[in-house]
Amino acid sequence: MPTKAIGTVDLDIEICKGCELCIKVCPVNVLEMSREFNTIGFRYPILLDGCTGCEMCALICPDFCFTAIYRNIPNKRAAEIQ
Ligand code: SF4
Ligand code: SF4
Repeated sequence: MPTKAIGTVDLDIEICKGCELCIKVCPVNVLEMSREFNTIGFRYPILLDGCTGCEMCALICPDFCFTAIYRNIPNKRAAEIQ
């Protein structure tokens, strides 16, 4: 199956307290804060394209919002069009 060297994260936005540490630490600047608020009243990160799966965001988050990091995800789209 074709693979592409990319990463992604799973993020629980409902426990985020909006400290923005993850935004600042991401080396490729693919996290930005939402305009909307979560149910406890904080803005939360949104993941843009280009995550490398480096885990820096998960390591720095004081509230353990990042629940999983994935790297080298199978390129499903490429597989689907074959
Ligand atoms: S895993 Fe790395 S590249 Fe991806 S969002 Fe987190 S800090 Fe950024
Ligand atoms: S580091 Fe954690 S608590 Fe802070 S904004 Fe990012 S996800 Fe939210």
